[in-house]
Amino acid sequence: MLRAAPWRNWARTESVRPVRVERPTTVAAVQRAVVAAGSAGLTIKAVGTGHSFTGIAVAPGVQLDLFDLRLPGLESGFAVDLPTGQVTVAAGMPLYRLTRLLEPLGLALPNLGDIDRQTIAGAVSTGTHGTGGGLVGLAGQVVALTLVTGDGSLLRVSPGENAELLPAVRLGLGALGIIVSVTVQCVPRFLLHAVEKTEPVDVVLDDYLERTNRADHFEFFWFPHTETALTKTNTRVSVADPGSRPARFSRWIDDELLANGVYRISCDVGTVFPAMVPPLARIAARVTGDRDFTDESRRVFSSSRTVRFREMEYGLPREQIAEAFRAVRALIERKRWRISFPIEVRSAAADDLWLSTAQGRDTGYIAVHRYVREDPREFFHAVEDIMRSYDARPHWGKIHYQGADSLREVFARFDDFLAVRDRLDPERRFTNTYLERVLGP
Ligand SMILES: Cc1cc2nc3c(=O)[nH]c(=O)nc-3n(C[C@H](O)[C@H](O)[C@H](O)COP(=O)(O)OP(=O)(O)OC[C@H]3O[C@@H](n4cnc5c(N)ncnc54)[C@H](O)[C@@H]3O)c2cc1C
Repeated sequence: MLRAAPWRNWARTESVRPVRVERPTTVAAVQRAVVAAGSAGLTIKAVGTGHSFTGIAVAPGVQLDLFDLRLPGLESGFAVDLPTGQVTVAAGMPLYRLTRLLEPLGLALPNLGDIDRQTIAGAVSTGTHGTGGGLVGLAGQVVALTLVTGDGSLLRVSPGENAELLPAVRLGLGALGIIVSVTVQCVPRFLLHAVEKTEPVDVVLDDYLERTNRADHFEFFWFPHTETALTKTNTRVSVADPGSRPARFSRWIDDELLANGVYRISCDVGTVFPAMVPPLARIAARVTGDRDFTDESRRVFSSSRTVRFREMEYGLPREQIAEAFRAVRALIERKRWRISFPIEVRSAAADDLWLSTAQGRDTGYIAVHRYVREDPREFFHAVEDIMRSYDARPHWGKIHYQGADSLREVFARFDDFLAVRDRLDPERRFTNTYLERVLGP
């Protein structure tokens, strides 16, 4: 059989040649595709923009691209209920489009991650989050969704319909069905006052809990082989108080030339001459600091990432962040590894989603990265060993090496999720190798 063109994810860690690719434009066409895949004995999966580092989106059977999906009666792919601030969008809508559509309506998403390229369905399905001690991740902002289940039927899940399924389907790993629409709770549009500083990393660690409690959005990056952290503290301000907006050119210099550009050079040189990584890290730490500006929230939350990398991220009980971070730092020093990418520390509030990294506990996140040309395995395995000693939970879209048996120990509602999977996809139409590993057959 002639197969479709090869698909690769953003990080170049996964690739597949699906049997076929379909681009349905209507919900009925999605239903037909699921039924047809079943009749042909094929698995079927929706893919977003392929920004997961794991094989979670790999579709060896039928790959569904929902970029052109439109909801009945919504040519724009978008409906807003202004009194409640709830917005319903087609599942394949990228976050950058959604946030731009919200702005003229006086609305915004309460929080966002580091980038906005992902689709809404892809982002919620893996538990994508930003930072903010009092704010839940993206899936926690979902109030309702509609999906096509394993037998091709349409299932509406909302506080008024099949509400018992909400804690599973809002963060479903793509294992429970093809999501066709997502309703998100938005907030009134706001600006962010961003303060970025370089500070001694030990001072920041000692103060991490306090800063996370105090700030709307606090995070920091540590440059390995230095004593320096870049802290980012974002405060929500009213649209009536624009403050000082960064000039577009100076923002380009900071975001593109210094952040992405400096990292690219430093990573390339470090791959060939590992001994150069520490001095280059010190230069990177020096040139990427100290900014203070106010801008539209969507523009402050996310930036572009032009240097390709691989990432592992674990969510821990927040009070253990400083200790676990110091253990990772000691590991890098002991092993004398040359790590050219910073380690990122963020936070999120507890939520009630069964497979959320923040389920039932206020969470801190530690994310480690390696440049795309470096083999991440030795470093990531060793970091994972440390994380597991802290009862940590892996991000579903980022590299980890765990399977269902050990994941069951850290996700208290794991078996409840599996029961919903048995109900919505008894024949495993939506499975793939990654899902078999993390959820079981
Ligand atoms: C540069 C970069 C920066 C990142 N920054 C962050 C960050 O700040 N915070 C964070 O938490 N994560 C971050 N991530 C991870 C990323 O947000 C997640 O992996 C996210 O899932 C990617 O969305 P996507 O649209 O690319 O989905 P894909 O990776 O294509 O798919 C993810 C999953 O969603 C499923 N899916 C997609 N559409 C549907 C649908 N319609 N119905 C059912 N299932 C569906 C897929 O089958 C798959 O299981 C980052 C990734 C990269 C590469």
